[in-house]
Amino acid sequence: MNNPIIEVKNVFKGYRVTPSDVLVLKDVSLQINKGEFIVIFGPSGSGKSTLLNIVMGLEKPTKGKITFKGVEISTSTEDELAEFRKRNIGIVYQQSYWVKSLNVVENVALPLILRGIEKQTAEASALTLLNSLGMKEWATYHPHELSSGQQQKVSLARALITNPEIIIADEPTGNLDYRSGQLITSYLKKLAESGKTVIMVTHNLDNLDYAERVINIFDGRIADDFKLNTSNLDEVKKALITEKAHGSVQDDYGVKKELDVLITGQTKLYEDINRDKGLGRVLRNLKHIITSIFLGVLLVIYKFIDAFLGIRLMPSFIQSLRSPISNLFRGVVNSIDQNKESISYFDIFNLSLKTLFSKKNRTAVTIGGIAFGIGFTAFLISIGYGLEQLVISRSAQLEQLRQIEVYPPLGESITINDASIATIKSINQVEKVLPVINAAGKVNYQNSNIDVVVYGVQSDYLRLSDSVLVSGDYFKSNSNTKLDIPVSAPVSMPVGAESSSSLERKAVVNIAFLNLIGLDFNSAVGKQFKLGYIPVNNLEGSNSNVLFNYDYEISGVLSTDESPVIYTPIDEIKKAGINNYSQIRIVTSDQSQVFSIRQQLNVLGYRTTSVQDTIAQIEGFFSTARIIFAAVGLVALFVGSLGMFNTLTVSLLERTREVGLLKTMGMKSKEIREVFLSEAIIMGVYGGIVGIIIGIVGGYVISFIISTISILRGYEGLVITYLPFTTAVGIILVSAFTGIATGFYPSRRATKISALDALRYE
Ligand code: ADP
Ligand code: MG
Repeated sequence: MNNPIIEVKNVFKGYRVTPSDVLVLKDVSLQINKGEFIVIFGPSGSGKSTLLNIVMGLEKPTKGKITFKGVEISTSTEDELAEFRKRNIGIVYQQSYWVKSLNVVENVALPLILRGIEKQTAEASALTLLNSLGMKEWATYHPHELSSGQQQKVSLARALITNPEIIIADEPTGNLDYRSGQLITSYLKKLAESGKTVIMVTHNLDNLDYAERVINIFDGRIADDFKLNTSNLDEVKKALITEKAHGSVQDDYGVKKELDVLITGQTKLYEDINRDKGLGRVLRNLKHIITSIFLGVLLVIYKFIDAFLGIRLMPSFIQSLRSPISNLFRGVVNSIDQNKESISYFDIFNLSLKTLFSKKNRTAVTIGGIAFGIGFTAFLISIGYGLEQLVISRSAQLEQLRQIEVYPPLGESITINDASIATIKSINQVEKVLPVINAAGKVNYQNSNIDVVVYGVQSDYLRLSDSVLVSGDYFKSNSNTKLDIPVSAPVSMPVGAESSSSLERKAVVNIAFLNLIGLDFNSAVGKQFKLGYIPVNNLEGSNSNVLFNYDYEISGVLSTDESPVIYTPIDEIKKAGINNYSQIRIVTSDQSQVFSIRQQLNVLGYRTTSVQDTIAQIEGFFSTARIIFAAVGLVALFVGSLGMFNTLTVSLLERTREVGLLKTMGMKSKEIREVFLSEAIIMGVYGGIVGIIIGIVGGYVISFIISTISILRGYEGLVITYLPFTTAVGIILVSAFTGIATGFYPSRRATKISALDALRYE
């Protein structure tokens, strides 16, 4: 059986340290065959761990070659090596390392999840494996709650879960009592018998009982390479403790000299290997960030729904939605996530969430800080919107936003007549054309004569105004007012002529008018008065045009009270011989059309006004105000994000070992970064959502207080805050971005952590 799975060829490993460089491995060459159980034996400090780390690709040799199944791995990139470990190697350390936020079964399942296997499946096989090691009852315990022997069994389960070809165990029994140690070693032996290659480091002679080959390392060199069998075991054991290193120490000097050059030019493994540069990198980062935010938001929403469906007292049919929803989200996430062989975004997110939940208070405070900043921003912005709405609703009704007032140009000969109305009517999106004739009128009521402005209008015109009818009704527009039928008014009207029915001689008046003639608005409807017109364009004309003889009946009273006004049916006024309209109100089909229709009218020579002008001014003012408000709010958000930065940095320091562990298990830098980044995004998004709620509730509270004061002082209630949905979503995205911005640096630092530094020192 001479089938090398791993070959170590002339490997040197030196470290550049003060005061003088150390040479840990000196020309080590070794062939490891498939299915062997090799024990690497040697005193502490002889370089055993260093050799293993080099074999696993956690460290690069200073000189020399490592091949796995004939392929050189010593020149591979960090990510390639991570992939190599993930696929081929299971590792057990002397000391157990855990992802602290995960329980036993989750820790064991983690290597499978890193390979993109679904959580349920991964945990099911983890449970089976734990069961075969007699650890099933401990599955939901926290690893640190177990004894070191039990922890080591769990470590073994974790190393085996991916069914790797090679098991590497660095002093797995070092921390164990004799029996636990024997147990672990016997497991390793069984694995070797089943065809796996097992490399175990030990300085305990008892462990040799199980091995078939022992390599003795002394002072960075291979001193012996024994094949073991029952007959030579004792002999070898004896040799190992008495024998000195083979080879001479004299040639160290020559090696050192050569290495001096090598070490100086040595590239550190976890630095700048295979890092892409320039614009491509920026774009990739951007794409990554946008995908991350999208997924972050999606997954937070999912978690909300999931938590909601998980409520105990929920009817079971609603709870049964849980797994379809979960599958749906997983499907969506997986469709974005193309790399099926690696940990899915879904699981990265779950890992982050677990970590955040394991430090509940800290997470809550951090999210609270962000939420306060966001809440304050949202609150201020909602006041901006609320006041704007309030002002706009006070200055215009919605209906008026799609109306245009059209006037003939000042001092020019263009007039508005039936022909021009026909032209205007033909403009696209013009729904209604409501002409107005303006006339001075003389009213005679109970022997008093009053001058008043008379508007000839259709009742639709009144309906579309903002004045409120306080009693009675509008007059009916009779069929003659239909504009498609040109109405030709008589040139002059004989005094007292009875040409139309009295039905048309109705008037809508306002309260100011009633005050003038001394009528109360409750009793005004149905009262009659006499009215004559003086056409505005013929004011200096004789009194002959004034018709006093028509009796008008009041049909309705309007609330406006600035100046006395009478509205009469337009046809009536036309009968007085007034043919040119003084103004037209146009109703467009949609308020977005107002601008273009006004432009067309202006081209035709008309003057136009619209409530939108006022609204635009109001909006202009308030959008400036909102920007200022938002800027103030963002200062609070910035303070909140400092808290988050602090949390992430502390969390990173605490988890240096965890990061190291994840790297040895084959997690790539990108994935490590995503774990940290997604923590930041989760906190950002949750902070955003909670913040929006705070902002809205705060708005209601303020509105309530102001309304109470307002009502107590005899005015109506006011709602002064309003947050449009899109703005709320936008604010949550800003919060998510804040998360990314604050998480960027810590997450990048996480990727720089060397797996070995993390595992060795802390
Ligand atoms: P073993 O596992 O056989 O006990 P190691 O391989 O861990 O020994 O270490 C061998 C020697 O290399 C030790 O003297 C140790 O101090 C040294 N060493 C290991 N890593 C480093 C490093 N990063 N920098 C400097 N010296 C190191
Ligand atoms: Mg060691």
